[in-house]
Amino acid sequence: MSIFSHSAYDKHEQVAFYQDAKSGLKAIIAVHNTNLGPSLGGCRMWPYADDGEALNDVLRLSRGMTYKSAMAGLKLGGGKSVIIGDPRKDKTPELLRAMGDFINTLGGRYITAEDSGTSVADMEIIGERSRYVSGVVHGSEHGGDPSPSTAYGVFVGLKAAAEHRWGRTDLNGLKVSLQGVGNVGFRLARLLKEAGAELYITDIFQDNIDRAVDELGATAVGADEIFDLDADLFAPCALGAVLNDDTIARLKVGAIAGAANNQLAEERHAEVLRDRGVLYAPDYVINAGGIIDVYFQQQGSYDPAQVQEHIETIGTTLQEVFQRAEESGETTAHVADRVAEERFGHEDAVKKTDTEAA
Ligand code: NAD
Repeated sequence: MSIFSHSAYDKHEQVAFYQDAKSGLKAIIAVHNTNLGPSLGGCRMWPYADDGEALNDVLRLSRGMTYKSAMAGLKLGGGKSVIIGDPRKDKTPELLRAMGDFINTLGGRYITAEDSGTSVADMEIIGERSRYVSGVVHGSEHGGDPSPSTAYGVFVGLKAAAEHRWGRTDLNGLKVSLQGVGNVGFRLARLLKEAGAELYITDIFQDNIDRAVDELGATAVGADEIFDLDADLFAPCALGAVLNDDTIARLKVGAIAGAANNQLAEERHAEVLRDRGVLYAPDYVINAGGIIDVYFQQQGSYDPAQVQEHIETIGTTLQEVFQRAEESGETTAHVADRVAEERFGHEDAVKKTDTEAA
């Protein structure tokens, strides 16, 4: 297995491997970039088929966190950790405490948070050993759950998309198709309803569908039918790779703005969307409300008004991305990556100048 020449290595600052024989912990922490601040990213626990799969996942995810935090305007870098194991069978308090010891070896260069396979309760156990843990502070109204903030950020971003695409500052009467009315999607649907949008929703769980229909007056459609609707905006809030050759050919919307991670099945799908005149809000930019929330939790003093104000910058960042993409003819996804690189690269230049001056 190659490390430095790994296709996802991409200038990672540090990749650390750790094993604790007593608890059975086998884990990797990847720190992609700390130009803007300590790296922050979730701790994923997954029964990876082999070490290579775990390494690939952690490298890909930590790099993504650098871009996400930079675009969210946070003084954070990008990092991620993975624990190799089945969270339902292998997770023990001893293993989580050993993970805390591992995190400490990086001396604060990496701050962890919950992710797939780990929970707020697990973070509390890791927190018995390490202070470099986020998502356990109960200062926020939702006790550490970032979903309400993610939903609010997507709502702000969706408004920015509507403004850029149609020059309108309200959502009244706009038809929005929404895939997945779970933690984020349902809250987003409620905000959209309050803003006067017409909602078409789908989910694979009947309970979730019923809640959106009963509480929000949304119209339920089939899981596959969602792509064929005559809607203005599509908000994917369920799963990744939802924008692919099949679905893009069917979508009739003018803009796509949703919470799901990794919406594009392949990078080239950003070009397909651009060529069809569909405005795409890059996923990691529009769904950053959660990381913004987690950042402020980590700061210790959680002021909901300050968090809300910061989340609203997602709208202005997206406007900048849309504008630059329109002027240059590039895809919004490509422009977002470049803006993020300018942001974390620029800070590096500032730091170097400061050091030189000192
Ligand atoms: P969730 O599991 O609570 O909700 C997802 C919903 O999608 C569920 O109701 C599920 O039944 C539904 N779903 C799954 N497959 C579907 C399909 N094929 N068709 C229709 N519905 C389907 O998850 P969430 O926390 O709401 O997150 C939603 C998405 O946003 C995920 O991609 C997640 O990675 C991303 N995201 C979430 C956050 C956050 O703060 N929770 C932050 C950033 C990104």
